[in-house]
Amino acid sequence: MGEDLRQSQKMEAVGQLTGGIAHDFNNLLTGIVGSLDLMQSRIAQGRTEKLQRYIETAMASANRAAALTHRLLAFARRQPLDPKPTDVNALIEGMSDLLRRTTSEAIELRVEAEQDLWPTLCDPHQLENAILNLVINARDAMPEGGKLSVVTSNGRHDPSDPDLSKRLLPGDYVCISVSDTGTGMSPDVMKRAFDPFFTTKPLGQGTGLGLSMIYGFARQSQGQTHIASEVGRGTTVRICLPRHAGTVVEPPELHEVAEVPRG
Ligand code: ADP
Repeated sequence: MGEDLRQSQKMEAVGQLTGGIAHDFNNLLTGIVGSLDLMQSRIAQGRTEKLQRYIETAMASANRAAALTHRLLAFARRQPLDPKPTDVNALIEGMSDLLRRTTSEAIELRVEAEQDLWPTLCDPHQLENAILNLVINARDAMPEGGKLSVVTSNGRHDPSDPDLSKRLLPGDYVCISVSDTGTGMSPDVMKRAFDPFFTTKPLGQGTGLGLSMIYGFARQSQGQTHIASEVGRGTTVRICLPRHAGTVVEPPELHEVAEVPRG
């Protein structure tokens, strides 16, 4: 990838981040400044009875602001992509224990792997993170349990399929879909779901970075993400990544070779 393109993507990500956090951070600052203001006027009036409460409010807001900047730093320190020819079915198979441990017993987890799935070119660690994030989101959308499926498929750029072809360049793709039968997203939530720091989860449970990181990862890999969701029925998030033209070459296993007697 050209350095210019990489840089412009970085700037775009920074721009998105800045917009996303500025609003939340401003709200927290307003809380801190407001509490300090009240304390100042109470002290000037010689009234000290509510000072403790104002200190607590300011501290709570300051702690939340610190947590926000920590998440921002973690996001900014993201690993650069290291794309490799990847066998997505094998990657998901390797995650099966982790995925089972991540979901509750009330969730029926199913993996449907397309036979003869094409190899893809992507950073396998980032793809693992993306799938784990999607499974966590699906789990969180089904507090009472339900069905969660991870499906892989070969996909072809099809101009008549508005979902698949919107941003995909012509060519073949490997798609990974994670579906749940959970709460679904309202149109409003769906519109903002990819925004950095957008979360509807309680404080401390969501960072609002999962889907935005997946979006960035797919774009940087020349692929695409797509959400289909209906309130009360569930959600499917699909990641499509470009097909790798060659095959995935596993490193050869080492075998003991008996010494050939010299004739
Ligand atoms: P987080 O999970 O930390 O909130 P994400 O960026 O992964 O951050 O998700 C953003 C928001 O999108 C979630 O808070 C939730 O409202 C919505 N969302 C994501 N995945 C799902 C899903 N599978 N079902 C319903 N809502 C979802």
